[in-house]
Amino acid sequence: MDTAFKDTAVDILKIRIRSSKYAHLLSHDGGDIIKTIYEGTPEGSAARALLVHVFAFYGSAIDLAAVFDHAPKDFYYDIAVAMRQVIDAGAKKGFWHSLTKCHYHCHQGEEQCYLSPQ
Ligand SMILES: [Zn+2]
Repeated sequence: MDTAFKDTAVDILKIRIRSSKYAHLLSHDGGDIIKTIYEGTPEGSAARALLVHVFAFYGSAIDLAAVFDHAPKDFYYDIAVAMRQVIDAGAKKGFWHSLTKCHYHCHQGEEQCYLSPQ
């Protein structure tokens, strides 16, 4: 998968999550989206990071319980780490506003963002 495609896919996911009910969107189907992303992306991927951050910042105990039987074990490990970071940061305010347009994109260094074509 090329970088522009991956970055486009994660942006679509970001827009979809933000325009709905955040973590509720991710848990209403029993966590199928979490399972799909964890099975289809490597450890540390941008898509995994986005899901985990949304759950850590906005997910309720009910949301986590809704996906408990279906979400992969790695998801819970990632959630635990992210929640510790949320606690250390002291607040969830400004999460969406803190993201740059290239947050969760895979391009690096001199590689051009698909959002800024030549
Ligand atoms: Zn970018």
